Amino acid sequence: MNSILISGGTLLPMTEGAPRQRPGDVWIRDGRIAAVGEVPEEAREATRLDATGCAVLPGFVQTHLHLVQTLFRGEAEGLSLLPWLRTRIWPLEAAHDEESLRASARLGLFGCIESGATTLFDMGTTHGHGVVLEEIAASGIRAWSGKALMDLDLDGSTPTRLRETTERALSEAAELARQFDGAASGRVRYAYAPRFALSATPDLHQEVARLAQRHDRRVHTHASETPSEVDACRRHFGNPCVAHLSRVGLGTGRWTLAHCVHLEPNEVEVLAATRTGVAHCPSSNLKLGSGIADVVRMRLHRISVGLGSDGAPCNNRLDFFREMSLASLLPRRLGDAVGLDAWTTLTLATREGAAAIGMDQEIGTLEIGKRADVVIIDLCTPNTTPHREVATAIVHGASPSQVRDVLVDGLFLKRNFQVLGYDARELCARGELALESLLSRAALAG
Ligand SMILES: [Zn+2]
Repeated sequence: MNSILISGGTLLPMTEGAPRQRPGDVWIRDGRIAAVGEVPEEAREATRLDATGCAVLPGFVQTHLHLVQTLFRGEAEGLSLLPWLRTRIWPLEAAHDEESLRASARLGLFGCIESGATTLFDMGTTHGHGVVLEEIAASGIRAWSGKALMDLDLDGSTPTRLRETTERALSEAAELARQFDGAASGRVRYAYAPRFALSATPDLHQEVARLAQRHDRRVHTHASETPSEVDACRRHFGNPCVAHLSRVGLGTGRWTLAHCVHLEPNEVEVLAATRTGVAHCPSSNLKLGSGIADVVRMRLHRISVGLGSDGAPCNNRLDFFREMSLASLLPRRLGDAVGLDAWTTLTLATREGAAAIGMDQEIGTLEIGKRADVVIIDLCTPNTTPHREVATAIVHGASPSQVRDVLVDGLFLKRNFQVLGYDARELCARGELALESLLSRAALAG
């Protein structure tokens, strides 16, 4: 029986209405949180983990990510979304083989764990996604993940290898779901991932909405990231992206949309009415020149908003601390010095992020009965000292190197500043080799 007592740290349980920070212990038993704050006498028998000088909080929920793109870091610079996809990312994805998928997923998983993420909401490419699901299962992290579904090619820009019929897309998704949904003691879940409105037919959207409802799964897609995407959606389907999705499946409370930067006022209402979660990806939106999502407005409509890094070629690091800092600062660009305060931002990174992907019953706070997904952050560094307001220190001062321990289901993924199960040098060497052969397959080398 696994039993750990985390003691001596400053607790940020992130529970609604509870004190924001306080001294206290966390007792983990059999992968779940058994006590928070005051612990019973029997907890004194547990393995002790001293967290003096550290913050103890729920693990970060990374609500939008493409592990398959980690290997493309730095390979698609200076482009806005549609040319970024068509001239670089799609040809690179089309050239993936098993070795490059594995190298990409492992590099990405390392970066996420390093940075304190305990749950990922991941979108794959159209083929070979079983490799990524295997790597997720082996890593120890919690994740929803699914192959990208692409049964529509409106302008002939999709590489042949990424195109698929509706039947093929759905049958491959069904097979992957059969193999991996619920794998690794339930840590791995299968999410349907139509790429975006311009790459998936209304029929496919309708079918995944039905399947998600039937099998208690999630749907993960992109929406309203750039004005040109919204214009193309309007041209082909007669509506902007979210309005279009609302006609072809949105409405079950099982969808999470990445970005939502360019929304019509009535589309915000649609998101709220359909209990759709939003993944806010500030560094990606800035790097591709997409714009800035109005998170403050969405939250006023009680939409659950989480934070995501998106793929490595659009940020270029899977650093959750940078996403938190940007999310907090960006609303202040118009002269509002509050923006998203540090505490609210930390809420997005944990509790609200969990709600945005439909997992708030299981993760996102340190509460009795929830999964023991915990992150311990060392605050005794120059950039986070003093730290009387711990949320401010974490959001605006801390970096991944301060994440001391990461636990999922009470098991260590990072311990004493070391990510377990990976050799960083080997990951890098293998990644470089895999990219080299991928680039020659993609005929993009040099
Ligand atoms: Zn994305």
